[in-house]
Amino acid sequence: MKKIAILSGKGGVGKSSIAASLAVMLARNKKIIAVDCDVDASNLALVLGLKADAFESWQPVQTSEKAALIPEKCTHCGKCKSVCNFGAITWDEKKGEPIFNELLCEGCGACQLVCDADAIELKKVENAKVGFGRTKYGFYIVSGQLNMGEAGSGKIVSVVKEQAYELAKKEGVEIALIDSAAGIGCPVIASVRDADYGIVVTEPTPPAFSDMKRALSVLDHFGIKYGIVINRYDINKELTEKMEKFANAHDIPVLEKIVYDKKFVDALVNLTPIVTYDKKYEKIFSNILAKVIDHL
Ligand code: SF4
Ligand code: SF4
Repeated sequence: MKKIAILSGKGGVGKSSIAASLAVMLARNKKIIAVDCDVDASNLALVLGLKADAFESWQPVQTSEKAALIPEKCTHCGKCKSVCNFGAITWDEKKGEPIFNELLCEGCGACQLVCDADAIELKKVENAKVGFGRTKYGFYIVSGQLNMGEAGSGKIVSVVKEQAYELAKKEGVEIALIDSAAGIGCPVIASVRDADYGIVVTEPTPPAFSDMKRALSVLDHFGIKYGIVINRYDINKELTEKMEKFANAHDIPVLEKIVYDKKFVDALVNLTPIVTYDKKYEKIFSNILAKVIDHL
């Protein structure tokens, strides 16, 4: 199975909307699975018209740990409080013992390491859910959602991918389309590291240009081939030209330039990928896919 990752560096450039249309077009000729790894703001299923309550299954996931006190063992030394860099430990003056704040605890384990009395345990907590459902376009989507206030999205991405690959194997899937999180942090690295090709979506604004370069450096690090899509290229043609020059100078294929069109918003509001909402976009997305498949 080949894996195509769609990433952007900066959020809000239309990544998931483009991923949805690519998935719909790709599914016309290939057996695919869509994998929504944007676990902090997963919305690919919704863009494909599949609401969370229409998923076939959701399973709770435990990938993070929180520190908890074993009161009978505590010798009240206070060492744990002094090493917590996340402000997750306060002091109960009455009892003379630490209080652990679950919401602030990052599960780093530093407090446990310094506790000579062995009075701290790290407990697994449910911090996300992973589910799958079949879209009306005939392919499955696997999606992860981090619970409110929880951290550890990189690990959740790994669970989402594991479950997606398992389902893909059963279904005889040829291509997995991975919608990565925005940025270049842990969840992005977990999303793209095993990809065969990266499609980097950007737009002609200075932050998007600089974040695109950072996203490219992640792909370079993993030796993944890539191309870029410049979305809403006509909102700043001068900067688009600069981006194209940059791409030429670095031998990066510009897979497509897409105009700014209010219909993208209308399509989103109607929970419909743009290629279904306005058929004139089919050709543009087919062109992108033809170029990507050439590189796989
Ligand atoms: S380091 Fe251990 S023994 Fe000391 S206050 Fe913290 S929990 Fe209690
Ligand atoms: S596990 Fe880390 S973050 Fe949590 S309370 Fe202990 S030191 Fe603080």
